[in-house]
Amino acid sequence: MARILVVEDNALNIKLFCDLLRAHGHDVSGVMDSREAMDAAHAHDPELVITDIQLPHIDGIELMRMLRAEEKFAAVPIMAVTAYAGEGDDKRIRAAGANAYLEKPISVMRFAESVAALLEPLPDKEKGAETDPSSQAPNEADGLT
Ligand code: MN
Repeated sequence: MARILVVEDNALNIKLFCDLLRAHGHDVSGVMDSREAMDAAHAHDPELVITDIQLPHIDGIELMRMLRAEEKFAAVPIMAVTAYAGEGDDKRIRAAGANAYLEKPISVMRFAESVAALLEPLPDKEKGAETDPSSQAPNEADGLT
């Protein structure tokens, strides 16, 4: 379970994204007007931000720059969602701060996989195996003989 902020001006898409994320047990905050996104980010303290790129007023590129400019959000994973992405867009989207991006129409499975990957705490992944004492003895008994 994670706190996730979704910024998307399309009513059907924001409902789809929020429903999918809530079905996975996440605490989701959705914003349709990107001018409210920074306030929502401060209020919700998201562990993941999902933003549309094509947004009126403040587009997704600008929003990502605004997030990255604040220390609080500098390292928060961002997934961008875009209706089209050429090679130039890819670079532009990643340079603005996106850790991942999906093209619309989204595949529900890829969306879920991408969210899970972005929320995965990479450095802690193998700690459990290393510190599990029950796995030590049999290994030593087997030895290297
Ligand atoms: Mn849009």
